[in-house]
Amino acid sequence: MFNIILVGPPGSGKGTQSERMVQKYGFIPIALGALLRQQMAENGANKALIEGYINSGQLVPDHLSFELVTQLVQAQPSNTSFLFDGFPRTLAQVTFLENFLKQFHAKTDGVIFLDVPSEILLKRLKNRAIIEERPDDQDDNKIKTRMHIYEQETLPIVNYYKAQGELHSVDGTQNVDEVIKAIETIIDGLRS
Ligand code: AMP
Repeated sequence: MFNIILVGPPGSGKGTQSERMVQKYGFIPIALGALLRQQMAENGANKALIEGYINSGQLVPDHLSFELVTQLVQAQPSNTSFLFDGFPRTLAQVTFLENFLKQFHAKTDGVIFLDVPSEILLKRLKNRAIIEERPDDQDDNKIKTRMHIYEQETLPIVNYYKAQGELHSVDGTQNVDEVIKAIETIIDGLRS
Protein backbone atom coordinates (compact mmCIF):
# COMPACT_ATOMS: atom_id res chain seq x y z
CA MET A 1 0.00 0.00 0.00
CA PHE A 2 1.09 3.56 -0.72
CA ASN A 3 -1.32 5.97 0.90
CA ILE A 4 -1.72 9.68 0.40
CA ILE A 5 -4.04 12.02 2.26
CA LEU A 6 -5.27 15.16 0.53
CA VAL A 7 -6.37 17.82 2.97
CA GLY A 8 -7.57 21.37 2.53
CA PRO A 9 -10.42 23.74 3.31
CA PRO A 10 -13.73 23.59 1.41
CA GLY A 11 -13.14 24.97 -2.08
CA SER A 12 -9.38 24.38 -2.04
CA GLY A 13 -9.59 22.12 -5.11
CA LYS A 14 -9.33 18.67 -3.50
CA GLY A 15 -11.89 17.12 -5.85
CA THR A 16 -10.26 18.47 -9.02
CA GLN A 17 -6.75 17.50 -7.97
CA SER A 18 -7.74 14.08 -6.67
CA GLU A 19 -9.27 13.23 -10.07
CA ARG A 20 -5.97 14.06 -11.73
CA MET A 21 -3.95 12.13 -9.16
CA VAL A 22 -6.17 9.10 -9.73
CA GLN A 23 -5.61 9.36 -13.50
CA LYS A 24 -1.86 9.74 -13.23
CA TYR A 25 -1.02 7.29 -10.44
CA GLY A 26 -3.96 4.89 -10.42
CA PHE A 27 -4.86 5.60 -6.81
CA ILE A 28 -8.17 4.23 -5.57
CA PRO A 29 -9.89 7.35 -4.25
CA ILE A 30 -11.61 7.40 -0.89
CA ALA A 31 -13.49 10.66 -1.37
CA LEU A 32 -15.88 10.68 1.51
CA GLY A 33 -17.89 13.79 0.57
CA ALA A 34 -18.47 12.54 -3.00
CA LEU A 35 -19.40 9.10 -1.69
CA LEU A 36 -21.88 10.49 0.79
CA ARG A 37 -23.47 12.62 -1.93
CA GLN A 38 -23.70 9.50 -4.10
CA GLN A 39 -25.46 7.61 -1.29
CA MET A 40 -27.95 10.45 -1.02
CA ALA A 41 -28.59 10.41 -4.76
CA GLU A 42 -29.09 6.64 -4.72
CA ASN A 43 -31.65 6.83 -1.89
CA GLY A 44 -29.52 4.53 0.31
CA ALA A 45 -30.58 3.39 3.79
CA ASN A 46 -28.96 6.34 5.55
CA LYS A 47 -30.11 8.95 3.03
CA ALA A 48 -32.16 11.14 5.40
CA LEU A 49 -29.48 11.02 8.10
CA ILE A 50 -26.64 11.87 5.71
CA GLU A 51 -28.67 14.60 4.02
CA GLY A 52 -29.28 16.34 7.33
CA TYR A 53 -25.56 16.63 8.05
CA ILE A 54 -24.29 17.39 4.57
CA ASN A 55 -26.91 19.95 3.68
CA SER A 56 -26.29 21.88 6.87
CA GLY A 57 -22.51 21.72 6.41
CA GLN A 58 -21.88 19.47 9.46
CA LEU A 59 -19.57 16.46 9.51
CA VAL A 60 -21.39 13.13 9.42
CA PRO A 61 -20.97 11.05 12.60
CA ASP A 62 -17.79 8.99 12.82
CA HIS A 63 -19.55 5.62 12.87
CA LEU A 64 -20.85 6.32 9.35
CA SER A 65 -17.58 7.55 7.89
CA PHE A 66 -15.55 4.79 9.60
CA GLU A 67 -17.90 2.14 8.23
CA LEU A 68 -17.65 3.54 4.71
CA VAL A 69 -13.86 3.80 4.79
CA THR A 70 -13.59 0.26 6.19
CA GLN A 71 -15.84 -1.18 3.47
CA LEU A 72 -14.04 0.62 0.66
CA VAL A 73 -10.54 -0.28 1.76
CA GLN A 74 -11.43 -3.90 2.51
CA ALA A 75 -12.99 -4.28 -0.95
CA GLN A 76 -9.61 -3.67 -2.62
CA PRO A 77 -6.59 -5.97 -2.92
CA SER A 78 -3.93 -5.53 -0.23
CA ASN A 79 -1.40 -3.89 -2.59
CA THR A 80 -3.76 -1.01 -3.50
CA SER A 81 -2.63 2.62 -3.28
CA PHE A 82 -5.31 4.81 -1.71
CA LEU A 83 -5.91 8.50 -2.01
CA PHE A 84 -7.84 9.73 1.01
CA ASP A 85 -9.58 12.89 -0.12
CA GLY A 86 -11.27 14.80 2.69
CA PHE A 87 -10.70 12.02 5.21
CA PRO A 88 -9.46 12.33 7.93
CA ARG A 89 -10.88 15.72 8.91
CA THR A 90 -10.57 15.44 12.69
CA LEU A 91 -7.96 14.14 15.11
CA ALA A 92 -10.32 11.27 16.01
CA GLN A 93 -10.40 10.29 12.33
CA VAL A 94 -6.59 10.46 12.19
CA THR A 95 -6.39 8.01 15.09
CA PHE A 96 -8.93 5.73 13.43
CA LEU A 97 -7.08 5.76 10.11
CA GLU A 98 -3.67 5.15 11.67
CA ASN A 99 -4.97 2.15 13.62
CA PHE A 100 -6.96 0.87 10.67
CA LEU A 101 -3.98 0.99 8.29
CA LYS A 102 -1.85 -0.87 10.84
CA GLN A 103 -4.10 -3.89 10.29
CA PHE A 104 -2.72 -3.97 6.75
CA HIS A 105 0.86 -3.29 7.93
CA ALA A 106 0.46 0.06 6.18
CA LYS A 107 0.62 3.73 7.11
CA THR A 108 0.12 7.19 5.69
CA ASP A 109 2.98 7.82 3.28
CA GLY A 110 2.39 11.54 2.87
CA VAL A 111 -0.13 14.30 3.49
CA ILE A 112 -0.68 16.96 0.85
CA PHE A 113 -2.18 20.21 2.08
CA LEU A 114 -3.84 22.55 -0.42
CA ASP A 115 -3.26 25.96 1.08
CA VAL A 116 -5.77 28.63 0.00
CA PRO A 117 -6.67 31.80 1.95
CA SER A 118 -10.28 32.20 3.03
CA GLU A 119 -11.11 35.24 0.82
CA ILE A 120 -10.33 33.16 -2.27
CA LEU A 121 -12.23 30.15 -0.92
CA LEU A 122 -15.42 32.15 -0.50
CA LYS A 123 -15.28 33.35 -4.09
CA ARG A 124 -14.63 29.83 -5.37
CA LEU A 125 -17.47 28.31 -3.36
CA LYS A 126 -19.93 30.90 -4.66
CA ASN A 127 -18.83 30.10 -8.18
CA ARG A 128 -19.14 26.35 -7.58
CA ALA A 129 -22.64 26.88 -6.16
CA ILE A 130 -23.71 28.09 -9.59
CA ILE A 131 -21.87 25.41 -11.59
CA GLU A 132 -22.45 22.26 -9.49
CA GLU A 133 -25.60 23.25 -7.55
CA ARG A 134 -24.33 21.58 -4.37
CA PRO A 135 -26.86 22.39 -1.60
CA ASP A 136 -24.07 22.92 0.94
CA ASP A 137 -22.54 25.69 -1.23
CA GLN A 138 -25.82 27.53 -1.57
CA ASP A 139 -25.95 29.92 1.34
CA ASP A 140 -23.54 31.91 3.42
CA ASN A 141 -24.51 30.26 6.71
CA LYS A 142 -23.78 26.77 5.40
CA ILE A 143 -20.45 27.92 4.02
CA LYS A 144 -19.65 29.63 7.33
CA THR A 145 -20.45 26.43 9.23
CA ARG A 146 -18.10 24.41 7.01
CA MET A 147 -15.32 26.99 7.36
CA HIS A 148 -15.78 27.04 11.12
CA ILE A 149 -15.62 23.23 11.31
CA TYR A 150 -12.54 23.29 9.12
CA GLU A 151 -10.80 25.75 11.45
CA GLN A 152 -11.86 23.98 14.65
CA GLU A 153 -11.55 20.34 13.60
CA THR A 154 -9.37 20.02 10.52
CA LEU A 155 -6.65 22.62 11.06
CA PRO A 156 -5.48 20.68 14.15
CA ILE A 157 -4.80 17.68 11.90
CA VAL A 158 -2.81 19.88 9.52
CA ASN A 159 -0.70 20.98 12.49
CA TYR A 160 -0.43 17.40 13.70
CA TYR A 161 0.93 16.12 10.39
CA LYS A 162 3.24 19.13 10.18
CA ALA A 163 4.69 18.27 13.60
CA GLN A 164 5.12 14.66 12.42
CA GLY A 165 7.08 15.89 9.40
CA GLU A 166 4.51 14.34 7.05
CA LEU A 167 2.89 17.51 5.71
CA HIS A 168 3.62 18.76 2.19
CA SER A 169 2.08 22.17 1.54
CA VAL A 170 1.05 23.24 -1.94
CA ASP A 171 0.03 26.77 -2.88
CA GLY A 172 -3.55 26.07 -3.94
CA THR A 173 -4.05 29.57 -5.37
CA GLN A 174 -2.03 28.64 -8.45
CA ASN A 175 -3.87 27.44 -11.54
CA VAL A 176 -4.99 23.81 -11.73
CA ASP A 177 -2.02 22.70 -13.87
CA GLU A 178 0.53 24.32 -11.59
CA VAL A 179 -1.05 22.75 -8.53
CA ILE A 180 -1.00 19.25 -10.02
CA LYS A 181 2.62 19.76 -11.09
CA ALA A 182 3.56 20.62 -7.50
CA ILE A 183 1.62 17.61 -6.22
CA GLU A 184 3.31 15.29 -8.71
CA THR A 185 6.75 16.49 -7.63
CA ILE A 186 5.83 15.63 -4.03
CA ILE A 187 4.42 12.19 -4.87
CA ASP A 188 7.33 11.29 -7.14
CA GLY A 189 9.69 12.27 -4.31
CA LEU A 190 7.77 10.14 -1.81
CA ARG A 191 7.77 7.13 -4.09
CA SER A 192 11.44 7.22 -5.01
P1 AMP B 1 -16.57 17.59 0.59
O1 AMP B 1 -17.12 17.00 -0.67
O2 AMP B 1 -15.23 17.02 0.94
O3 AMP B 1 -16.63 19.09 0.61
O4 AMP B 1 -17.55 17.11 1.78
C1 AMP B 1 -18.91 17.46 1.77
C2 AMP B 1 -19.57 17.07 3.09
O5 AMP B 1 -19.45 15.65 3.29
C3 AMP B 1 -18.95 17.68 4.35
O6 AMP B 1 -19.41 19.00 4.60
C4 AMP B 1 -19.47 16.68 5.40
O7 AMP B 1 -20.85 16.86 5.66
C5 AMP B 1 -19.30 15.35 4.68
N1 AMP B 1 -17.94 14.81 4.89
C6 AMP B 1 -16.93 14.76 3.98
N2 AMP B 1 -15.82 14.26 4.53
C7 AMP B 1 -16.13 13.98 5.83
C8 AMP B 1 -15.41 13.44 6.93
N3 AMP B 1 -14.11 13.10 6.83
N4 AMP B 1 -16.05 13.30 8.12
C9 AMP B 1 -17.36 13.62 8.24
N5 AMP B 1 -18.10 14.16 7.25
C10 AMP B 1 -17.51 14.33 6.05
